[in-house]
Amino acid sequence: MTHPAQPKASHFINGEYVEDTAGTPIPVIYAATGEQIATVYAATPAIVEQALSTAKEAQKAWAKMTGTERGRILRRAADIMRERNHELSVLETYDTGKPLQETLVADATSGADALEYFGGLAGSLTGEHIPMGEDWVYTVREALGLCVGIGAWNYPTQIACWKGAPALACGNSMVFKPSETTPLCALKVAEILHEAGLPAGLYNVVQGMGEVGSALVTDPRVDKVSLTGSVPTGKKVYAAAAAGMKHVTMELGGKSPLIIFDDADIDNAVGGAINGNFYSSGQVCSNGTRVFVQKGIKEKFLARLAERTGNAVLGDPQDEATNFGPMVSENQMNIVLGYIEKGKAEGARLICGGKRADMPGFYIEPTVFADVTDDMTIAREEIFGPVMSVLDFDTEEEVIARANDTEYGLSAGVFTNDFTRAHRVIGQLEAGSCFINSYNDAPVEAPFGGVKASGVGRENSKEAIKHFSQVKSVYVRMGDVEAAF
Ligand code: NDP
Repeated sequence: MTHPAQPKASHFINGEYVEDTAGTPIPVIYAATGEQIATVYAATPAIVEQALSTAKEAQKAWAKMTGTERGRILRRAADIMRERNHELSVLETYDTGKPLQETLVADATSGADALEYFGGLAGSLTGEHIPMGEDWVYTVREALGLCVGIGAWNYPTQIACWKGAPALACGNSMVFKPSETTPLCALKVAEILHEAGLPAGLYNVVQGMGEVGSALVTDPRVDKVSLTGSVPTGKKVYAAAAAGMKHVTMELGGKSPLIIFDDADIDNAVGGAINGNFYSSGQVCSNGTRVFVQKGIKEKFLARLAERTGNAVLGDPQDEATNFGPMVSENQMNIVLGYIEKGKAEGARLICGGKRADMPGFYIEPTVFADVTDDMTIAREEIFGPVMSVLDFDTEEEVIARANDTEYGLSAGVFTNDFTRAHRVIGQLEAGSCFINSYNDAPVEAPFGGVKASGVGRENSKEAIKHFSQVKSVYVRMGDVEAAF
């Protein structure tokens, strides 16, 4: 019997599902059991061509519609996503293994937020009038054209919407390639957008591995590339986009610091560290995986952290009582287990977890290492799994220098009850998305993105509009033209 997660076809192009079984089969594995629940096929060159040509053509009429008309369609799509939240959350759980307790509140809902927010902004995308004496200049905010979105596997619905919603609001079309690990959810986003009235060809989904992504990025018809992925992939995609002088947004990885001063509320700080390391089983780019704890509260913090981590419920992700799911894939599980072994070998003190859970599926116990030092592998490299490194510090000056000593710069957090210190420290941290007495909030109203190797550009908020549009400036002369001859 066909599993309910099996999509109607692999791709969504020009307003309909399209299949081409000549592409490489991509098995969809349910991370909670290891069983294959669906199959899709990687896009062949013919499918890539169909998606790009249809998106290029459809964009022209879309850009001529008023922003209000475009926005209405996006807001209708947001309403449909909310009505179907349960069904979409179940699918997200099959695609990623994340527990339903999370997907019900974090995935289709945040996708709907993006569609609603950018739908609301679409009618207000205007230029400005610049007086020049009798003459004047006016500016027009124009669409870029055809945009390519490439997604990571941790938030397949959210990433499809975070890229699609601002792109469409600005009058662009999109071809989106999900990660081969989680190919299911973006198809539903495309289906819902078209059900809401999006004209055919404006939001297309094609499946495939890196080669398909690369074919999209290098095509001369593409005007912009927005990638969510790792730093090594980001460097390749950025270079390929640069060769064609294309616009880019790069949302890449991190190794973010979470700094806890000894005057912090311990339970809030522990809660922040749990949210910043164990939500989505640690598969979140902005996670605060280097938890710097001031020496005065170290043992108290560790004791409370171990106690609360003991409340993680590992189990069937479709059961709403489960609050901690498996790694997205066997491969990711093995990568994370490798890092845990390195942590042990390099002398970090294991506080809890530290191994694969004794159950089917790709589960790893939530793991905390203490006495981690700055040079250990687990403190330097992005793990993308449930492994928290706790490091000690003495002074504010010291911790700021150590927090910034990384190639990454996605996020940073500070817990303290001294509000001048909170702002002083945050002001010196090299990171794009920061938190005070909180961690990992990502509302659509706030800009999201990194500095240094963690990325270029911003998603969400009004900032995203700047990255999916460009400004044309028009000088208007009211008098005669003076010329030298
Ligand atoms: P990858 O970088 O491996 O892949 C990201 C996407 O790029 C996938 O769809 C992948 O396809 C595609 N891709 C790979 N090579 C190329 C290429 N040469 N040209 C075009 N596309 C290509 O990341 P993961 O999927 O493993 O996701 C985890 C990473 O994503 C982590 O490092 C994490 O930090 C980062 N991330 C960043 C976020 C942010 O907003 N800053 C949010 C979430 C994750 P395929 O995998 O199918 O081969």
